[in-house]
Amino acid sequence: MNLLEKLDAAAAKRKALLPEGIGAFGIPIEEIYSATEARIGDRRVLLLGTNNYLGLTFSPECIQAAHKALDNEGTGTTGSRMANGSYYGHRALEREFADFYECCAGIVFTTGYQANLGTISGLVGPGDTVLIDGDSHASIFDGCILSGAEIIRFKHNDMVDMEKRLRRLGKRTETTLIIVEGIYSMLGDQAPLAEIVHLKNKYNCALLLDEAHSLGVLGEKGQGLAEKTGLLKEIDFITGTFSKSLCSIGGFCVSNHPQLDQLRYVSHPYIFTASPSPATIASTRAALQLLRNGNELRKQLWRNCTQLYTQLKKTGYTLGPEPGPVIAAILDSPRQALQIWQSLLEHNIYVNLILPPAAPDGKSLVRCSVNAAHTTEQIAYVGDTFEKLFRQVLNS
Ligand code: PMP
Repeated sequence: MNLLEKLDAAAAKRKALLPEGIGAFGIPIEEIYSATEARIGDRRVLLLGTNNYLGLTFSPECIQAAHKALDNEGTGTTGSRMANGSYYGHRALEREFADFYECCAGIVFTTGYQANLGTISGLVGPGDTVLIDGDSHASIFDGCILSGAEIIRFKHNDMVDMEKRLRRLGKRTETTLIIVEGIYSMLGDQAPLAEIVHLKNKYNCALLLDEAHSLGVLGEKGQGLAEKTGLLKEIDFITGTFSKSLCSIGGFCVSNHPQLDQLRYVSHPYIFTASPSPATIASTRAALQLLRNGNELRKQLWRNCTQLYTQLKKTGYTLGPEPGPVIAAILDSPRQALQIWQSLLEHNIYVNLILPPAAPDGKSLVRCSVNAAHTTEQIAYVGDTFEKLFRQVLNS
């Protein structure tokens, strides 16, 4: 098979999962009206397929900050910080992240994906080991591949399996980086951080926690799982993204290790890519401020999460183990998931369809993400529609 034939074979596999004409992936969004509504085709739909957890995408503070930066600093930085220089906003945002996490330093990356790539490949290399959760996001896995370190996976959230692998490493644990996530993006479950920290200390490893889905969501201050569990000081490196609760694009790493700064000089995903645009940085700075003052938003988010999770559970759907902004219905087959996804769209509700191999353990998911801007009525409508479809599709 030549290179193009290989692509044809992959396309054929994808089409076999999705009947002709159903564009569940990369669906065209024609107009976007708010944090909760958009137009898909000729339908005005409710958005439950974004990661806009605090619902801030249209907040006047973020929009005004971005406008001002565009006017004052132009559309882009046109280069990397290493070669072309660091704008005031990049440095200010790094200080603000460090301050937010009560850490000595922070680094801003151009995307969340690059934050993981850059941090992991800067920290470990050939001869070192990364011990990662089996359900890790692709950015974690790709960062590990880029690093050249040996990759060992433990079963998702399984501490017995994790310790077994640590024991086998012997003295090599000293050059081992453990990587876990605050909230896992597919089923919305949280890492057992207290046990992970215990094992990290017992075996003398370093720990990186990706708070992509938990920043702004967990903890009184919105710092994430590290705050919720009271373990902030135990985490060596925290990475995260601007593309979820912070409603723009970019990523960060914070740490109390002064060596963090050295990553700037060794990390290709930091050095060899253009830095975030001034407007992106400005809106992120505004969003971080809103997130820090966002206790009411967080409360509303959790009211919405609990409302939908409780209703779907009561209806009989199989869900992830705990409520949160990611609520995934686990279906028996790709066909069932597709049917539910399509029927939801016909009821003007947009959610994510996740088919194997993207979901863990070959599962098929209809994944909702709830945000603070959804109204109680919108969530009730989504819950009622799921209930109706449970009877129509799953009991037929
Ligand atoms: N980490 C996790 C756990 C993620 O889910 C994602 C994206 N969904 C990323 C990192 C990458 O972030 P971004 O899309 O902002 O590049």
